[in-house]
Amino acid sequence: MKQEISQELDFILINELLGQGFEFRSGQRETVQAICEAYYEDPESTIVIDAPTGTGKSIIAMASSLVLSRLGNKGYLVTSDLMLQDQYESDIYRLRLHWPSIKGVDNYECSVNGQPFSLGDCKLKGMGYEQASRLHCYGSCEYLQNRKRAIESTVCLLNYSYWLIQRNYVEKKMEQEQRPVPFERRDFVFFDEAHKIDEVVQSHFTPRIDRMLIDRMVQAENFLIRNQIEGTGYTKTRLQNIVSDVMMLPGKAQVFESMQVLERVLIGYNKAARRVKKEANRRFKGHEVSKDWQKAMTTFERIKDTRCKVQDYLELIREVGIDKMVIDHKQEETKTMCVEEAKMIKKYLHEKGGFKVFMSATIGDPNTYMKLMGIENARFIRLGNQFDYKKSPIVFVNRFGLSHREKETNLPKVIQLLDQIIDKHKGQKGIVHTGSYDFKNRIIKDSKHVFRLMHYDGSKEKEGAFDVFKTSKEDKVLIGPSLLEGLDLKDDTSRFQIFFKIPYPSMVDPLIKAKMEASRDWYNWKTSVSILQGVGRSVRNEEDWAVTYIIDASFGTLMYHNSDAFPPSFTERLKTLK
Ligand code: SF4
Repeated sequence: MKQEISQELDFILINELLGQGFEFRSGQRETVQAICEAYYEDPESTIVIDAPTGTGKSIIAMASSLVLSRLGNKGYLVTSDLMLQDQYESDIYRLRLHWPSIKGVDNYECSVNGQPFSLGDCKLKGMGYEQASRLHCYGSCEYLQNRKRAIESTVCLLNYSYWLIQRNYVEKKMEQEQRPVPFERRDFVFFDEAHKIDEVVQSHFTPRIDRMLIDRMVQAENFLIRNQIEGTGYTKTRLQNIVSDVMMLPGKAQVFESMQVLERVLIGYNKAARRVKKEANRRFKGHEVSKDWQKAMTTFERIKDTRCKVQDYLELIREVGIDKMVIDHKQEETKTMCVEEAKMIKKYLHEKGGFKVFMSATIGDPNTYMKLMGIENARFIRLGNQFDYKKSPIVFVNRFGLSHREKETNLPKVIQLLDQIIDKHKGQKGIVHTGSYDFKNRIIKDSKHVFRLMHYDGSKEKEGAFDVFKTSKEDKVLIGPSLLEGLDLKDDTSRFQIFFKIPYPSMVDPLIKAKMEASRDWYNWKTSVSILQGVGRSVRNEEDWAVTYIIDASFGTLMYHNSDAFPPSFTERLKTLK
């Protein structure tokens, strides 16, 4: 098979199937070859790839998919979010691969009533996809056309959320109804940004219950009464009591029991929604569904979303046990989660794909990664980029800790050190990872560079602050606790970056606390991945450079216990100052 794969790669290059003049960068062709060979050695196996910025992991995923598909296999490319999906879409277009991309239903509009697809005219009338495919508007229905192309193509692009819904909820439903599964198990799947899989799976299966749910159910009930459609029989007081139980009872067993009651209520609303759609089909045959009915249907849809999450979650807890529940009661909402993430990932993700490739620029320690992600017997590939890091050292100043105990004594000294570093980089822009808003506020209060510093409070303000920082011609320094991921600070946008505080996950979050108690390895792994993500913000291409400073002494302890978490591209640049 080795030779066939190599010949296929030659054919792809000679015939410019990846675009005119396409050439692999160093290491890419070998990695594609290794991935395809591994598939043929064992089509149920798994590969984990650590691919730092500059290695072109999306090209590796696409070229491997092209080879495997040309050899008669079908697969999925799965991205973590819509932004990355858009980037893949433009790469697919640039490389002339003609693979379809599909997103969640509400990213598409119904061409008849202008509503999101889930409230499209056919959906409001309770039509299934088969009935909709006979409508005159079917040819202009962006979602259904995209979906059809994605189902029929040998390779298609999806995001985690869509893939998880299709491979779990939709597959189960279709099998129960003995109907064909649209997005079935395929031969191979590439998961990008795979360091986020634990978070993605957790959040996908986390029900959030708030008091708006009571309003929605009451509105739905009133609509049923007004339109003489059989109701659910629940009074407002009863609904208030049920939701309050979920949101206020203290113990896991009590919350679990109250969620089971809520599940029955939500199923009742789901049945009512089906009656409403049937009636809408009868009343509005041949013309558009009226606005008040559309509004009611939105309400029923939102109740249905909650019902799906609650049902999936209860099913999971029945399997793993009530002691694995994590409850986060807040005034505005209650979130229920599960600490057994490796099991969740196995059940919802590993068992739903064939040959799997997990790729990330920040895998951290590969053994810990695999253990935490429920991956057994994977092959690990670490790629190197062609970056010259001589001008991008990582300087660790091992002097002052900022733990709870040391904070008050050391803070003035660390801020003084921060000021010295900012002085040294006069005329250059940079960023400071503060670890928390508290530290950010102390820096703003006590730093002598207050006029160079730019800061923000919350994610909305961050976007605006970042835009101003990016375009500024002055030597500004952007500071905040959430600059670790997703920012492209290439070239002069950032020539230095300072880790004021090591970004340990906050123990105030009950899920983080439960996960840390279950596995200290997870806590350290997560912290290392955040540091690697942060370090990667300012060196983006082969010519780029930036100096990184770590001025929180607790990094020494993290390094000591987790030296395998940091790849050579990090450790070889590390200089420690006492
Ligand atoms: S099939 Fe027609 S009615 Fe249904 S969502 Fe698409 S465009 Fe709208």
